[in-house]
Amino acid sequence: MSFDHIHVDISEVDLQPRLEPLLQKAAAWHHHLCPRQVLGVRIGLAGAAALGFEVPRNDKKMVVFVETDGCFISGVQAATGLSVNRRTLRIIDLGRIGVTFVNVKSEKAVRVAPQLDVREKVWRYVGKDQRRRYFAMLEGYQKMPDRELLHIEKVRLSSTLREILSRPGVRVNCQQCGEEIINEREVMIDGQVLCRACAGQGYYQIINRQ
Ligand SMILES: [Zn+2]
Ligand SMILES: [Zn+2]
Repeated sequence: MSFDHIHVDISEVDLQPRLEPLLQKAAAWHHHLCPRQVLGVRIGLAGAAALGFEVPRNDKKMVVFVETDGCFISGVQAATGLSVNRRTLRIIDLGRIGVTFVNVKSEKAVRVAPQLDVREKVWRYVGKDQRRRYFAMLEGYQKMPDRELLHIEKVRLSSTLREILSRPGVRVNCQQCGEEIINEREVMIDGQVLCRACAGQGYYQIINRQ
């Protein structure tokens, strides 16, 4: 599938049997199947298809940036086969239900997110007796075609993948705390090599420094 045809619709006939095992897999990581997992699976399939990748994958030819944590990630992971521990799935916590898919070799990228009005449109895809919003989303997100459910657009990463992924085996020590820093996450301040915590970009503060 060429990159220029980023509007990919899995035929509605094929959709349900394809979704079923992926939803089971996503739900197995939780105690439930929820609408966000369904969106994760749908977005995972659509984004990979937009870049012309078969999924699930167990190589490192595609990397995804997922914009929130939680249930949504389970769906993305079930569909794509990519994961944090293999460094093929990265969380950029913007608190949004969106994913950017990147072809590692070409750095071509697409971002996929639900259309803004999916919660209203979902009612067209559920039975007339369905009154509950949650279950309408759960069912509707499985049935809506990509063109109704998703917004897919080409994007460019703000940093290169090479910078983001770095290289294995690169390590330096922070000149303040002494801890080892891998993946070129150090910063240089006044000629000192510092980890980001010591550089004031930490997510915690030490209460009683010994
Ligand atoms: Zn959930
Ligand atoms: Zn440090």
